[in-house]
Parts: sequence; C-alpha cells; structure tokens
Amino acid sequence: MAKKKENIEEKLSAKKESMWLTLKKNEMEKAMKFAEDYKAFLKEVKTERESVEFFLKIAKKKGFKPLSEYRKLKPGDKFYIVNREKSLALGVVGKKTDRFSLVVSHIDAPRIDLKPNPLWEDPDSSLALLKTHYYGGIKKYQWVSRPLAIHGVVYTKSGKKVKITIGEDPNDPVFVIPDLLPHLARKAQGERKLFDGIRGEELQLIVGNIPVDDKEVKQKVKTYVLKYLNEKYGMVEEDFNSADLEIVPAHEPRDVGFDRSMIGAYGHDDRICAYTSFRAILDVKNPTYTAIAFFYDKEEIGSDGNVGAQSNFLEYVLAKVYSLIKPDYKHYEFLDILYNSRAISADVSAAINPIFKSVHDIQNAAKAGYGVVISKYTGHGGKYGSSEATAEFMNEILSLFRKNKVAYQIAELGKVDEGGGGTIAKFFARYGLDVVDMGPGVISMHSPYEVISKMDLWSAYLAYKVFLAQ
Ligand code: MN
Ligand code: MN
Repeated sequence: MAKKKENIEEKLSAKKESMWLTLKKNEMEKAMKFAEDYKAFLKEVKTERESVEFFLKIAKKKGFKPLSEYRKLKPGDKFYIVNREKSLALGVVGKKTDRFSLVVSHIDAPRIDLKPNPLWEDPDSSLALLKTHYYGGIKKYQWVSRPLAIHGVVYTKSGKKVKITIGEDPNDPVFVIPDLLPHLARKAQGERKLFDGIRGEELQLIVGNIPVDDKEVKQKVKTYVLKYLNEKYGMVEEDFNSADLEIVPAHEPRDVGFDRSMIGAYGHDDRICAYTSFRAILDVKNPTYTAIAFFYDKEEIGSDGNVGAQSNFLEYVLAKVYSLIKPDYKHYEFLDILYNSRAISADVSAAINPIFKSVHDIQNAAKAGYGVVISKYTGHGGKYGSSEATAEFMNEILSLFRKNKVAYQIAELGKVDEGGGGTIAKFFARYGLDVVDMGPGVISMHSPYEVISKMDLWSAYLAYKVFLAQ
C-alpha cells in the first residue's frame, strides 16, 4: 500500500482544531459532566465569600486541614489557609522542596455594592431606593432593567452576624435599577455617549413602595423597608454602615446554543479559573513539588488591600508552609525557592466576539472551543503593565501540555492599540518566579451574562491539573 503523502502545511504550521472535533468520546463525557458541576457551583456562588465557603466545605471533606493544625508537613499532606473569609490557599505537599507550583486566580467579579448609607425615600415617586457604588469595570447600562439579587454579610448593633441572600430562591423578591422608557429618553439619554448612558449615581435599586400607615412617620416608604429589615434580620439603618452587601444578577447559569456547547452565566471572570484550579488541586495526588491554588479577592479593583494579590498573603502562606517542611531553614534559602517557583496566573482572556471582530487581530485572538488561552504577556499598547513570560518558561509549559495532550491556544486580548487589561501575574513576578497567564476565553466579559465554551472549561481544568501535578 502506498504511504499517505505527508501534508507539509500540517507538519510546519501552527494550525489548531476545535476541541469539539478532537476530544475523545470518553473524555467528552467527562467534560460534559464537569460542565454540569461547574454550573451548579456558579448557581450557588456569586461572591468572593461564597466562593471561599464553597471551596472550604468540599476541601475539608477531601482531607484538607488548617495549616495551623500541622506540627510538621510531609509529602501528600493537604492544607488550607483562609484570609478573612475572602481569599484562600489550598495546597498539597510535594516530594521535592526546591520550588513551589502555584495556580493563582481571583474570586471577585464586577458587580454593584451598596453605599454605606444607602437607603432613602423619593417622595415624588413614592419609592424606597438603595444607593450604590459599582465595583470593577462594568458597562453601567448593562445593569438596568434586569432582576438583581443582594448577597452579603451584615453585623447588627448587638454583634450578630447575619448572612443575607435575597433574590435567588424562585419565591424571593428581586430588585431592579430602572432604565428610562424610550419614549422620553431622546434627550435625557439619547444625547449621551453609550458608556455614559447610565451614570454611577443613577445606579439605584428600587426596593419598596408600601408606606407605613402612621401619620406621625415622615418617611413612610423608607420606614416600611426598615421595619421589614428589622423584623426579618434584626437590622437597623445604621447596620448598613458596616455591611458587605453586593448586588449581583439574579439569574442562573444556563446552556447556550442549540447544541448546548456553551454556558451563559454571571461571574465566569474569574470563577471559571477558580473552579477549575480548585478541582485540579483536589485531584492532585503526590505532586513532585508542593502545589498550591490561591484564590484572591479584589482583582477587579486593582488587587489592593489585605485580601488582594498585592498583599503579602502569598509570601505569608509559602513561608509558613516551608517552615513546617524544613523548620531550620535560612531566609535566603526561602528566597531561592520563591525565585525558582513556577506559577500560572489563572485568569480569563477574550474569545472572539463575531459581532465586533475589529478589536481583535484574528491571527492572535482566542476562539471559543479551541482550548485554554495562554497569554505570553498581557497589559496594553506597548506591553505596558505586563509580566511577560520568557521563551524558556513558555517552552517548558508548552512542552508539558503537548506531552500530556492538553489543548491550548496562544492569544492576545485584542489589537495592539485597542485597549488591554492587566492580571495579577506581575505581583508574583516580583519574587523572581516564572509566571504565565492562562485561562479560558470569555465572550461579553464583565457583563452580567458572560459566555464560555464547555471545551475551554475542560481544557483549563486539565491544564491546571497537569501543571500542579508535575
Ligand atoms: Mn479576571
Ligand atoms: Mn475581570
């Protein structure tokens, strides 16, 4: 029989194929099951606190223990450290001690927070409203005229901690930020630019309409709301001052497309990376190097603060861990280990939006369904603000993925001078370690309803797992 003629293009070019065509049947089944698990996670979890709670509950069942309970760490030991209920590290001790393998994601998502003095009554409309301050890079006009839920924590004056979730149960009420009817919007909105269509101070939630039946009371609708909050949660108005209350879309994750190939949901950025790296660390058995998944808050507002990636939480955790592996260590040894460590900055990228292709250089853009996106660098025009992975580290990662048959694609966020975005990679690069950005492509990122491909979800999980296990 004649030998099949070698296809020179196949041999030499960097052409990729859709994972929908290349994934083996038994892998496909696993990937679809994984997508169901992920949807259940997104349905339950809409804030950073809820992410920490969800991960901890499962991690504890899988044998992860508080790091403080260990007197000494040995290979295979599983530990966790929580930072103020808002960020978390989960780790598995490795056989070798000369470096760490880290996957770092964030569990906050763009949303709308309540102001510290939020509640007021507008006598003209006879409505009670809550004032807000948005969190992260949102397009404000996307958040009006849609059902919204309130999630968070309130401390009452008596010191009681009250967890609040309203708007998720089908029997719950929801809240809404009213948009203007088109009939009257010609001037008030029509003459504004798109991004300015709804302004920060206009993001106010309608929360009540019934007045208390009492002649003595001046603000009757507001008082009715306060009465309800007091009866239901023991709250008084002042308790808003200290609360963490977040407004998020009230809808559930759903399959998207006739073929159910995608998932539409709130918070894929970056809970898709958080969830996949969480599942990866659960599945890592006896890694070569100590493997740790970090989950941070505050990425969407610059990673500042004591629960963000610019805090020293990473160093704090690694020093604690290393001191339990090698109690008599020298500080310079620890610095060497940090320097030699490898990290994935697990964050999403943009998948091509077919309606606005002009923002991408298609040859360097991510396609839905083509696997996890590796970004050699992020930043904006001229690579500003980026931590670029070296050719050596890129080669190490790509070789690892080829060897383990992990589908991936290499892309940039958008065209050179189009805009851009940073990640937390640069905050870890400070230690000298090697770090690269990697995560699924998202369509309509930062909107209340982001879309991802189930293939890219699966590929991210495989990528993180292979990396953590090495
Ligand atoms: Mn992100
Ligand atoms: Mn983001």
